[in-house]
Amino acid sequence: MAEKRWISETLFDEQGFRMSYQVERVLYEMKTEHQDLVLFEHRFFGKMLMLDGATQVTSKDEFVYHEMMTHVPILAHGNAKEVLIVGGGDCGIAEEVLKHKSVKRLTQVEIDASVVEFSKEHFPEFTKPVLGDKRFDLVIDDGMNFVAKTDRRFDVIIVDSTDPQGPGKVLFSSRFYAACKRCMAKGGVMVTQNGVPILQPGELSSGIAKFRKLFADGFCYVAAIPTYVGGHMAMGWATDNKRLREIPLATLAARYRKAGRFPTKYWTPEVHKAAFALPRFIAELVARAK
Ligand code: SAM
Repeated sequence: MAEKRWISETLFDEQGFRMSYQVERVLYEMKTEHQDLVLFEHRFFGKMLMLDGATQVTSKDEFVYHEMMTHVPILAHGNAKEVLIVGGGDCGIAEEVLKHKSVKRLTQVEIDASVVEFSKEHFPEFTKPVLGDKRFDLVIDDGMNFVAKTDRRFDVIIVDSTDPQGPGKVLFSSRFYAACKRCMAKGGVMVTQNGVPILQPGELSSGIAKFRKLFADGFCYVAAIPTYVGGHMAMGWATDNKRLREIPLATLAARYRKAGRFPTKYWTPEVHKAAFALPRFIAELVARAK
């Protein structure tokens, strides 16, 4: 019997480190207009999507990142009606956002139409509820163009991007964050995919330094996502409303009840609060970010 193929994540080649996965079946593999895309079945992590050699989403652990990138900003805000996702191709985050009945409109700006197209076939658990929801609108565009031009204002901006390489690079720039600030509603908040601090310390410190030049509060919170290897994943936090990080536990619990206590597998009011208590090495990175 032929040797099974192994697919390796090449994101950390510079650090001389690769995570490799034995492939049960390749479901989809192509070079899109913007990036290399491969979707395969893994016997433990289920469906796995990689873009340009970096793991994006797996069926097994998607809930951690998707819930923390969504419920933390929306329940901290407390009255989010207009939400913007930049990136978000597979619609995993959109599915979580639309669990909030308070959200009146969700716009997703994705650069690569083929990521959404193939997600319709391979991630129906995300795309079916989302594409069937009249509050959802999809824009195929570079996120930088959209935030620079839109006349709409958003209560919550979720930047679910690839890493700072290829089409995702601009989404880590000061120009992009300044344009996000321009289209953020008063009291709004932005969260970003900000890498794994122990392997990508510069990505976090430079991101927060850029936030602090634009917003009253630039910080991050953390969660552990097994296939975003390297321990804690950092999610960037940028807002002019300093109180949003201090929402009392009881208020978060009450807002979750009011939101209908939709099912979660990772997010709880306690986990929400704890995610801002940073381990010392990350807290020092954040403190030094200028
Ligand atoms: N959660 C994943 C992660 O942390 O690596 C990201 C998931 S999502 C698949 C990332 C999406 O960002 C991809 O679909 C990619 O096409 C999109 N993207 C990359 N650069 C973009 C840009 N400049 N504007 C809009 N979308 C972009």
